[in-house]
Amino acid sequence: MANPNDPALHSWIDIAPGSDFPIQNLPFGVFETAERGPRLGVAIGEYVLDLYAVAQFGFFDDLELGAKMPKVFRRRSLNQFIALGRPAWRAVRQRVSELLRHDNPALRNQEEAMRECLVRQSEVRMLRPVKPQNYTDFYSSIEHATNVGIMFRDPANALLPNWRHIPIGYHGRASSIVVSGTDIRRPNGQRKAPDAAAPSFGPSQQLDFELEVGFIVGKGTHLGETVPIQYAEEHIFGLVLFNDWSARDIQSWEYVPLGPFLGKSFGSSVSPWVVTLDALEPFRVAGPVQEPEPLLYLRQLDNHNFDVHLEVAIQPEGGPETTVSRSNFGLMYWSMAQQLTHQASNGCNLQVGDLYASGTISGATPDSLGSMLELAWRGTRPLPLADGSERKFLLDGDRVTMRGYCEKDGLRIGFGEVTGKVLPAPAG
Ligand code: MN
Repeated sequence: MANPNDPALHSWIDIAPGSDFPIQNLPFGVFETAERGPRLGVAIGEYVLDLYAVAQFGFFDDLELGAKMPKVFRRRSLNQFIALGRPAWRAVRQRVSELLRHDNPALRNQEEAMRECLVRQSEVRMLRPVKPQNYTDFYSSIEHATNVGIMFRDPANALLPNWRHIPIGYHGRASSIVVSGTDIRRPNGQRKAPDAAAPSFGPSQQLDFELEVGFIVGKGTHLGETVPIQYAEEHIFGLVLFNDWSARDIQSWEYVPLGPFLGKSFGSSVSPWVVTLDALEPFRVAGPVQEPEPLLYLRQLDNHNFDVHLEVAIQPEGGPETTVSRSNFGLMYWSMAQQLTHQASNGCNLQVGDLYASGTISGATPDSLGSMLELAWRGTRPLPLADGSERKFLLDGDRVTMRGYCEKDGLRIGFGEVTGKVLPAPAG
């Protein structure tokens, strides 16, 4: 059987060069149309392959996916499909790859099946890909943590003493995670300017984005069980782009001493297509050298970071888009495996569909920072946009779009995008 990641594979479906969704990617998502849905699908070029329809035509019959077939493909989230386990995800991705290969007539030559199984992406509405029971946000970029430390604490001691020992994180809010395209309402909240005598309640004046990548748990654990670092990646289904919208003024007033709360929980956005860890295999890279060496339970060999190019663009209402940042997921100090092993190290149980986000992904240069806070340096260096305006933080009507892709040896696979527009705060 051919390796679905083989750069030489090509499909009988026309796929534009530079598409995020060549035959080597095959990310999973959930969609609906006026006539059908919700259904699980796989992105291929400009199309969605309807997995329920594929199953109905019998193309999965010999895969032994269990009694939940085919209704597992007719669900509002990927959770039940993911719960079937890695052998099932691999078998489905492998079969989809075979069906879409240029030299396989099985689907291509059956006109009725082809019409039923392929839907144009322009005709579908994408839903949130998973129903996360739990959401954790980490803080794993050393550049980001250093920048925040310089701005808010002490430039000479920007990193707190624990940072190089623990993948720092906090438990976030799963219920307000929304799919790309959902508008984000500016939150009201309590904030206190440094020179104000007392706090006040009202619309956040410092609304921000955070460029992050999230991973989705594919294999849970029982309460009390831990995950040795060498098995951590077996618990990961795939990756999404993640915008952890943040209200800096609310955050900076409320976060002492228990950490982020309402400055974060008003909304986070995920991209609709989950790129599997299997598809990302060719893009493994080494992370930064960890100094001092982590404690034994977090120590790992080989390459556990992934070379994903990331971009952030801001588009004011009715205006042109400006790319304001270009960063890379491969820069992260703590790997996803280390995050997962650390999360489970106290016996806390992981659940299928949990979402763990990386933390803001900032690079070392001024054009690779992953938040407005850093790009405009806490409002002291307003960021110019293509329409001639400038930003310290986000304004109502601003659309923030994040994109991500991997590229190597002529093979390019992408994440699509996560986008959201800022709406005015609710009155009163
Ligand atoms: Mn964050």
